[in-house]
Amino acid sequence: MSGFGGFPSLGASMRYQAILEINNRTPKRYDPSRDESGKRLKISEFYGQNVFDLRKMQEKLPKDTYKRLLSAIESGEKLDSDIASSVAKCVKEWALAKGVTHYTHWFQPLTGLTAEKHDAFITPEENQKVIEKFSESQLVQSEPDASSFPSGGMRTTFEARGYAAWDPSSPMFIMDGAGSKTLCIPSVFISYHGQALDEKTALLRSTAALSKQACELLNLIGEKSVLRVIPTLGIEQEYFLIDRAFSNSRPDLVMTGRTLLGGQPPKGQQLEDHYFGSIPSRVLAFMSEMEYELYKLGVPIKTRHNEVAPSQFECAPVFEEANIATDHNQIVMEVLKKVAQRHNFQALLHEKPFAGINGSGKHNNWSMSLSASDPSIDGENLLEPGKTPHENVRFLLVLCSILKGVHKHAGMLRASIASSGNDHRLGANEAPPAIISVFLGNMLSRICDEIETKQVSSKNADKVVMELGLSHLPSLMQDNTDRNRTSPFAFTGNKFEFRAVGSSANTAFPVTCLNTAVADGMKEVTARLKAAGVTPGTQTSSEKIFDVIREIIKETKAIRFEGNGYSDEWVKEAEKRGLQNLRKSPEAMREIVSAVSIKALTDHKVLSEEEVHSRFNVRLERYIKNLQIEVDCMKSMVNTQILPACLLYHGALSQAAANAKAAGLEAPQTAALKQLTDLITRGQTKFADLQRASKTAEDTHDEYKKAELYATSVSTAMVELRTVIDEIEAVMIDDAWPLAKYREMLFIS
Ligand code: ADP
Ligand code: MG
Repeated sequence: MSGFGGFPSLGASMRYQAILEINNRTPKRYDPSRDESGKRLKISEFYGQNVFDLRKMQEKLPKDTYKRLLSAIESGEKLDSDIASSVAKCVKEWALAKGVTHYTHWFQPLTGLTAEKHDAFITPEENQKVIEKFSESQLVQSEPDASSFPSGGMRTTFEARGYAAWDPSSPMFIMDGAGSKTLCIPSVFISYHGQALDEKTALLRSTAALSKQACELLNLIGEKSVLRVIPTLGIEQEYFLIDRAFSNSRPDLVMTGRTLLGGQPPKGQQLEDHYFGSIPSRVLAFMSEMEYELYKLGVPIKTRHNEVAPSQFECAPVFEEANIATDHNQIVMEVLKKVAQRHNFQALLHEKPFAGINGSGKHNNWSMSLSASDPSIDGENLLEPGKTPHENVRFLLVLCSILKGVHKHAGMLRASIASSGNDHRLGANEAPPAIISVFLGNMLSRICDEIETKQVSSKNADKVVMELGLSHLPSLMQDNTDRNRTSPFAFTGNKFEFRAVGSSANTAFPVTCLNTAVADGMKEVTARLKAAGVTPGTQTSSEKIFDVIREIIKETKAIRFEGNGYSDEWVKEAEKRGLQNLRKSPEAMREIVSAVSIKALTDHKVLSEEEVHSRFNVRLERYIKNLQIEVDCMKSMVNTQILPACLLYHGALSQAAANAKAAGLEAPQTAALKQLTDLITRGQTKFADLQRASKTAEDTHDEYKKAELYATSVSTAMVELRTVIDEIEAVMIDDAWPLAKYREMLFIS
């Protein structure tokens, strides 16, 4: 394709070709499961077919073995080796019958991704034959070389050994891709000395800690039948879908997952026509196939819809135990990307792929579920205000524990969601602010206020519950649609929604921190109750209990905020209240190694002090690396794509102007030429600024200071350079613009 002024078309040809290609695309239909007669199967007929779930284990394992396995899973205790060997035998048979050739311990290293190293089931036999074997020890653990995974300084390379150990609480599943089937064994990943090198170990420990503290609290108020408390999690996943012809043509999307340059489209999301709009057919075909793949993997995807921004979508499953929900979200992200490719889309999971357009989050809906020997309370949601005054006092105590936990550990929670991607989203007037606060909604805040100001005539907890209308809460809550989209942590009727988590994050760490914060809050509430003389025989109507509730409500008042979290007033108000506003990742990440965070994480045996430091180191390092890659990518795009295009166009304009003048004519190009000259010069200045700022950062040896420089002067220089380039985009001849434009990527499919 030849381009403007006799020049070969500069890169723009890529854009035009992409558009042509996309014009010719048709929705790719997927082939759902059918029965022999060709009739489509119902979801329930193929759901979980690639999962070795409890039902299959029950079918295949000896009765007694199954029972012991179940109780080991529930108690989190070590499995006897004969159980593991039975499971190994059954799962091998099941997998081989399904055409599986390999197995892998599937784990979640501190990179935030998942890791797998596949081994074939084969073992050599005599006569150069092989047979399929899978022993107990192969199921229970493998030894991937740990030296290439981040350890945050815990492990030196000469001690590179790490173990991936089977986590029986999350079911094994078959990943099926490109004709290859692999049995994935969900695992934790620990070093030779037992330090956690992954995200899951801490999550499991925090789950146990939360359960322990919750049981103590509940036992103290007379709930003796409680066996366990399990955090539950429903994870909404937002993402963008861009045609691959566009995304592959942009080095920034390929290398960093976000656009580092790109002017605003004439139409963004101001018409509000995308949210919940009808789903385009190519996208619907993709979603259907993605859901089909996820159903086979036992991921209960329930909801799909368009999100606020153009080309932005969301899917959400039905909530599950937090541990399983976390694994499932990792699977969702993987399947999402894979299936998108089959439909010629690139799924962007970055928190802010497009400047000026809403970013993506991963709302973590979180609650706690009771496991009890008394069937009348077994399975109850602890955040569901109940029907009896007793249940509502329980609810208030749980609520107080959460308020206490979030108030005390706002820093840790802020740290848990910090990442280079989320920096662009938090506080950007579309996502929760970087200030951690709790939203309770009208009803509950009024109740808290009334309790605090003693506007209740009685001091008897039961009566107060009645007087405050708390016993009508469940039904009221359902109609109570007051939702605050601007709060990072909002009560939504019978659960909290931790909305500040970024779309690309592994939720294990935020949930670990949340579980720990609440466990710590519960420990405090239990201690206060005991100090007030409450014993398991004490009636929940007791004044003593109520005094503790009042005390905690008072103490944690600063963390509660019902107003607009996007407003400047809130920033000022929060400061007055002494709440932290940690805008950028380095300062936020540092909160994980604060004395308060370390004390809670070590007290509750979630992480050792060394493991906490390693999390900080790994995250800070990842932050720096991401920014380094962005800076390098931006510089190369400007140097090798933008500037050459500008100079060629500039040359063509100058030549034309000279020709006009030589012919004795006015040169109408002059104004455009002057404007372009100015812009190019400004761009070059900003480029040099970025060069300088990044060099200063690179020359800084202290990692924290380096990260801070990237977060401040380097980031600012990137924004300033971008601003000029985006201005140039607006005046440059379209034919010479080498990068797919926002209006194309976001609106053409
Ligand atoms: P919205 O977009 O309005 O916030 P969604 O329906 O998209 O709501 O998501 C709500 C999520 O909360 C779902 O995944 C749902 O299963 C989950 N959820 C509901 N109840 C609980 C609970 N008790 N614990 C954890 N998650 C829950
Ligand atoms: Mg939500």
